[in-house]
Amino acid sequence: MKNEKVAAILSYLHDNYDDAKTALDFSNDYECLVSIILSAQTTDKSVNKVTPALFKHFPDFESLGKASIEDIEKDIKTLGLYHNKAKSINALGKVMASEYNGIIPSDKKTLTSLPGVGIKTAGVFLLERRGEQVIPVDTHVRRIAIRLGFAGENDEFSAIERKLEKAFPYEEHAFVHHSFINFGRTKCSAQRPNCEGCPLAAYCKYISSTKGKKSKRG
Ligand code: SF4
Repeated sequence: MKNEKVAAILSYLHDNYDDAKTALDFSNDYECLVSIILSAQTTDKSVNKVTPALFKHFPDFESLGKASIEDIEKDIKTLGLYHNKAKSINALGKVMASEYNGIIPSDKKTLTSLPGVGIKTAGVFLLERRGEQVIPVDTHVRRIAIRLGFAGENDEFSAIERKLEKAFPYEEHAFVHHSFINFGRTKCSAQRPNCEGCPLAAYCKYISSTKGKKSKRG
């Protein structure tokens, strides 16, 4: 049943989200890592609107580290949490220029020691720029993982990541990350999932709990 469920979910996702990929625009490691940090609690679309000017003014870690927080804020002020984000990427620029010669490390432990880089940011960077098969967990991935019964409501993001990576074949990990996000954005949204005719309903804890509530009401 477990393998059957995973196979059915993968089949649906490949049929509908086979070309799923990140919506962030970047052309090198530096732009990728900074864009991922800026995307916290905001849409990729909003990030893409500010990064052309930001990367024009500050094309590398060195220039970003030497910039004033105020000048960075001018370029990213339309984003949520822009003050904290400006501080984070400025600190990242300083550390990357002084300690790493601008070359981003490729191991998760070192990555997560950098300013502004948490587990999800490190995972997304490794997936996008190092081709690693990992399943970084954002809010979409978390929601879908819980609804489809791969994780529990109380699981930490890192536990959800481990459970998903155990459940899905290794070579599908990057695809699972991208396709869960696209599925979450287009169909299985947080507030109003479009459950009508959803082929994954048989595996979905959300729809079964909703049905239960409706039948109890009457
Ligand atoms: S049935 Fe609804 S909540 Fe469940 S996976 Fe499908 S769209 Fe999401």
